[in-house]
Amino acid sequence: MQANAQALSGVEDHDHAAYVEDNFLASVVSIGHLTPAMMRVVLRLEGGERLLVSGHPDEWVRLAVPADDGTPVVLPVLRENGRWEMPEGADYAPNRPYTVRRWNAKTCEMVLDMVVHEGGVAARWAMAAKVGDVVGICNPEGRFWLPKGSRWLLMLTDITGLPAVGRVLEELPQGFKAVVHVEIPSDADRQEIGEMIETAADVEVTWHIGHGLHPERPGYTQLPRIAREIRQLPEGPGYIYIAGEARAVAECRKHFRDTLSFDKRRIDAVGYWIEGQARV
Ligand SMILES: Cc1cc2nc3c(=O)[nH]c(=O)nc-3n(C[C@H](O)[C@H](O)[C@H](O)COP(=O)(O)OP(=O)(O)OC[C@H]3O[C@@H](n4cnc5c(N)ncnc54)[C@H](O)[C@@H]3O)c2cc1C
Repeated sequence: MQANAQALSGVEDHDHAAYVEDNFLASVVSIGHLTPAMMRVVLRLEGGERLLVSGHPDEWVRLAVPADDGTPVVLPVLRENGRWEMPEGADYAPNRPYTVRRWNAKTCEMVLDMVVHEGGVAARWAMAAKVGDVVGICNPEGRFWLPKGSRWLLMLTDITGLPAVGRVLEELPQGFKAVVHVEIPSDADRQEIGEMIETAADVEVTWHIGHGLHPERPGYTQLPRIAREIRQLPEGPGYIYIAGEARAVAECRKHFRDTLSFDKRRIDAVGYWIEGQARV
């Protein structure tokens, strides 16, 4: 169940600690709407003392959910040959990547924020989940890394990237300049700085309302238009993190690389989801 995001590009100027696979059963401690389009689930991991954090603030896990009501999640087991494999007769539970919004190593509790949408196995699970329900979680993996000497950060995401935005902003150093654009379905989905996101950084957030299907336009997301409206970047070396629908993210990356001639090694563009396709 190794976490393996579809990363479209990235900066590679830091040492990667090798990923160590491990898998945990986790039970729901609490679940509810954080905002209309976002559920917050708190999970307690069995044996969570073993969990190895990645050291990256955008880290994600794969959340394994029951395939149906009658099928409990079964974890892969570590074989003598060092491989993680499913026990005989058991199938991999459907699993999807979710950002670790918070991890408390003392209580072994993990917070995930999950977007509500039609037609997804994980989204459907979140909408029906109850306290005590059991899921699977693997060791987290991450990639966000401010290149040395960066003086600013630009984050451009749709609502699926909002948990990463929250976590990154909370971990930025005091006074660090961050310009953030987030596309959300409605005004009520804003997560205000100082209320839902605590940060010591110097942050400027613009909320773009309208994520989702609208009869007057095709597609779910306007992220490429939002990117194209950014015609100037702050002075000096910086880092751009883009997350959202895969094709939209690729277009956004092109804008910064080709139109604004920004160094592509300082752009991390991650396809979080694919319109019309399950994220298997
Ligand atoms: C590194 C990483 C971190 C992520 N972190 C988060 C996170 O913290 N919170 C979060 O909500 N998502 C996050 N995602 C995105 C999430 O994994 C995908 O949205 C995933 O497809 C959801 O699984 P599902 O089972 O609900 O839908 P799937 O079974 O994968 O897809 C079924 C259908 O739903 C559509 N769909 C999938 N996601 C969405 C969406 N968000 N809006 C509208 N339609 C959609 C698909 O196009 C498909 O047609 C992350 C992805 C990555 C790669």
